[in-house]
Amino acid sequence: MRIDILTLFPELLETPLRTSLLGRAVEDGLLTVAVTNPRDFAGGRHRTVDDEPYGGGAGMVMQCGPLFAAVESLRDRNSLRRIVLMSPRGRRLDQNLVRELAAEPDLVILCARYEGVDERVSRALVTDEVSIGDYVLSGGELPALVLVEAVSRMIPGVVGKWESVDTDSFYHGVLGPPQYTRPPEFRGMRVPEVLLGGNHAAIGRWRRMEALRATRERRPDLLENLTSEDMDLLAELEAERGRPNTDKEKSQ
Ligand code: SAH
Repeated sequence: MRIDILTLFPELLETPLRTSLLGRAVEDGLLTVAVTNPRDFAGGRHRTVDDEPYGGGAGMVMQCGPLFAAVESLRDRNSLRRIVLMSPRGRRLDQNLVRELAAEPDLVILCARYEGVDERVSRALVTDEVSIGDYVLSGGELPALVLVEAVSRMIPGVVGKWESVDTDSFYHGVLGPPQYTRPPEFRGMRVPEVLLGGNHAAIGRWRRMEALRATRERRPDLLENLTSEDMDLLAELEAERGRPNTDKEKSQ
């Protein structure tokens, strides 16, 4: 997969793109990430990319010219099918959107600064506006990295074991299960007994149950699209609620 990122601050992206899983994916050629600076496409002695908003008001607005020219310069390397603008006014990023974007052969991601971009960029250049949540950051670079990292995890080979992705929160619509590591007892707190034995079917069932328990407690809004198997497990959890001294309590 190829991702072209447009930013006025390429240095903000350097370390994250070189580090850990993302860095290795780039190094192994599973993912190509290229950074383009729209300032290189700005005219004039000062290479200006922004100007005051029409109608007045605080801040500056990124101009159409450099952004259109920068995107058009990618035509030979990128299909330009999906041109994503990071924006608090966009569709809120979730795993479904991550999966949808990861299925593309390539993406262009625009990072804005200041008060954002001229509306004609949104209307005529961009195909998708994506927000990483209902709060405002000072630029699109960190949101772009969030998107790139989430998308990269969907590319086979980026995460060493696919099982890690498969059991992640949201991958199958619910939160991930709790995890434990050595030692088996710490300050009187025991690791649940089932995890210490080698019964993989029992472990799998326990994990699914605990994933559903966490989802019911923290994010009941996610429980809408469950499989019938999960509905059965959830029904068991509901029954357990009425019973004192549950397995969970016994194992803690
Ligand atoms: N005045 C704008 C916010 C500008 S913030 C507004 O109210 O909509 C500057 C830039 O940072 C944005 O254009 C966008 O590229 C990026 N940005 C800020 N918050 C973001 C968020 N929650 N998700 C995605 N991008 C964001």
